[in-house]
Amino acid sequence: MTIEERLEFVKGRIARACARVGRDPGGVRLVAVSKYIDALQAGRWVRAGLTDLGENRWRVAKEKVESFGGEVTWHFIGHLQTNKVKPVVEHFTWLHSLDRLSLVDALAKRLGEVELAGGRPFYTLVQVNVAGEETKSGIPPEDVGDLLDYIHGLRRSPRWKMAGFMTMAPRVREAEEAREVFRGLREIRDRFADHPVWEGRSALELSMGMSDDYEVAVEEGATMVRLGRVLLGDEGAGGAADSE
Ligand SMILES: *Cc1c(COP(=O)(O)O)cnc(C)c1O
Repeated sequence: MTIEERLEFVKGRIARACARVGRDPGGVRLVAVSKYIDALQAGRWVRAGLTDLGENRWRVAKEKVESFGGEVTWHFIGHLQTNKVKPVVEHFTWLHSLDRLSLVDALAKRLGEVELAGGRPFYTLVQVNVAGEETKSGIPPEDVGDLLDYIHGLRRSPRWKMAGFMTMAPRVREAEEAREVFRGLREIRDRFADHPVWEGRSALELSMGMSDDYEVAVEEGATMVRLGRVLLGDEGAGGAADSE
């Protein structure tokens, strides 16, 4: 299958998941995870109409980010080391993995210093470890309130927009088993919807759902799905294994 065919397949599934729960498919953004492929293949994805690409490591992203520049909206979805904050803030528009105070501090410092090209906003999502897995990053649900309070208490660059939440479900055999986790994130969003840190943003994002479970995530309210393996066709990198 070509990337065009795969994209059509995935979009069809997202549309049907939306129809099952009465949602508008326009409310689900597809973040195509390009960490498995090189710049040449990523170019095919962009020509096929993908506009949002996700990467989980700066080292792997660098060449692609530098070759597509402003054509693509870049999403950083992996664990972000504080020594990589600088290039990420410069090249990416979204950070899905805000998961600790030291990263908040590093972002506050860096965003206060740099002039982002064209004065564009930098959006961040709080990553929550809903399932309580020890191996997964993200803050525990009970710490969400404190983290939001802390961020709200900072003097923040006006370009730094707090925009919602992200989670990763554990690997499960049946997608249905991930539903509790997605529902849990939606409940956290609802609980904190009135927090002043959002600065009146009306629709908070829910970044949840990967290749094995995105339809369930959409049914539970995902506004962004992060898809890698399901988009890899014959032209894929072969190594569809998780890079982590
Ligand atoms: C790799 C990755 C994805 C994509 O996973 P697939 O199973 O390939 O769809 C999504 N989110 C994060 C954080 C990732 O690291």
